[in-house]
Amino acid sequence: MSSKLQSISALRALLDEKKASATELAQEALREAGQQSRLNAFVDIRDDLTLQQAKAADARLAAGETGALLGIPTAHKDIFVTKGWTSTAGSKMLAGYQSPFDAEVVSRLNAAGTVSIGKLNCDEFAMGSSNEKSAYGPCLNPWDTLAVPGGSSGGSAVAVAAGVVPFTTGTDTGGSIRQPASLCGITGIKPTYGSCSRYGMIAYASSLDQAGPMAHSARDCALVLNAMVGFDAKDSTSVQRPAANEDFTAGFGKPLRNGDAAKPVAGVRIGLPKEFFGEGLAADVRAPIDAALKQLESMGAVLVNISLPRTELSIPAYYVIAPAEASSNLSRFDGVRYGHRAADYSDLKSMYENSRSEGFGLEVQRRIMVGAYVLSHGYYDAYYLQAQKIRRLIAQDFQAAFQQCDFIAGPVSPTVAWNLGEKSADPVQMYLADIYTLSTSLAGLPGMSVPVGFGDKNRPVGMQLIGNYFKEGELLALADHYQLATDWHLRTPS
Ligand code: GLN
Repeated sequence: MSSKLQSISALRALLDEKKASATELAQEALREAGQQSRLNAFVDIRDDLTLQQAKAADARLAAGETGALLGIPTAHKDIFVTKGWTSTAGSKMLAGYQSPFDAEVVSRLNAAGTVSIGKLNCDEFAMGSSNEKSAYGPCLNPWDTLAVPGGSSGGSAVAVAAGVVPFTTGTDTGGSIRQPASLCGITGIKPTYGSCSRYGMIAYASSLDQAGPMAHSARDCALVLNAMVGFDAKDSTSVQRPAANEDFTAGFGKPLRNGDAAKPVAGVRIGLPKEFFGEGLAADVRAPIDAALKQLESMGAVLVNISLPRTELSIPAYYVIAPAEASSNLSRFDGVRYGHRAADYSDLKSMYENSRSEGFGLEVQRRIMVGAYVLSHGYYDAYYLQAQKIRRLIAQDFQAAFQQCDFIAGPVSPTVAWNLGEKSADPVQMYLADIYTLSTSLAGLPGMSVPVGFGDKNRPVGMQLIGNYFKEGELLALADHYQLATDWHLRTPS
């Protein structure tokens, strides 16, 4: 029995048929995490806590309880606070921090009976696209350990891709679920902003931060999303919808819209923004995406040319808004209310200064500086306000596009995973790699990454699928139809 690369439903069957217990699955995952420690995906593992959760799941199973996730091993991005395991957001600032409570998303998954193997590496405070900006050091891509896994949810992608656990939690502020999923050959979805509670998610940019699942398939993502999504009065931006308790697997196994068995996605219009297929897109990424679009076309989809004219502006807009919010969110880490306090200081100012200089890494400090600058008197109108206007226009462009199509498809990343160290010295190069994911985040739309093949050096390629607000059920069903016809999501690194 091995949990390696098994889907949630495969593990479900083992549990239901009593071929394995939750404890055995947890032990197997712990062993696998230990064996793959070189990848540096896990930053805190506590066997005793894991086995305690597994024992509780076994007791529920023995009592005849059922549930899609009961007894299934998982692990959480270190951006979620968790009782028992440390919660550090990949930062020295929070080294050793023990939260007195669980993030809402973690509580929901605990209530569903999942068993946590530990906490997962990420870029410090979720700022980054390569997982190289973590106080724990970089996390490695299991397909090629010379390559970055993507970020900021790098550990979350690696733990799934390497077959340690069947699913993990991630967060996406500007692409941090979709991009590492793409670079590691797994499936991940960022739902509509407001779907998953942000309570207990260490804040980066609150108007953008959104949690979501990362797993092998759209099917598994849907099962996990069912447990993660829901109104939470503890988060003021949590959305209360009439369609509460939506089952994201409801559309699975059925043709989408007007489809039939032969053409399951017949008549589904997929928009291809010309700005997503321009010069910046590497040929080795484009080829598998073109093939995936052909595949969808053969299943009945209609490809429509569309335009998202402000795509390029998403980079400057995002890199003004996100740092602005970060500078405000991170002000609480002053060594008094929260976080590391320097040993050396002579007065209050030097205490703040030394604590923050020691606790925060350079990228985080850069974002705080940029954020404070764009919010400062005299520059606010020129930067922050302009960025907010662009954000609104980007959201409007999407709505205009959705008049012409049901979904939007494109790349997630302009290139396959790059080498460790390749972009880490040049922040702008790193920011530019986010070109295809930022606009979805700025608009608050759901977006996912689906594995569609391999590019240079046999590194994975993901295709991005974007839906309109609260269309994650259909989005996942579309991805599922694609995955029923292809096997890219079943490939595993050797
Ligand atoms: N790469 C983007 C950034 O550095 C997005 C990160 C994220 O989604 N958390 O801000």
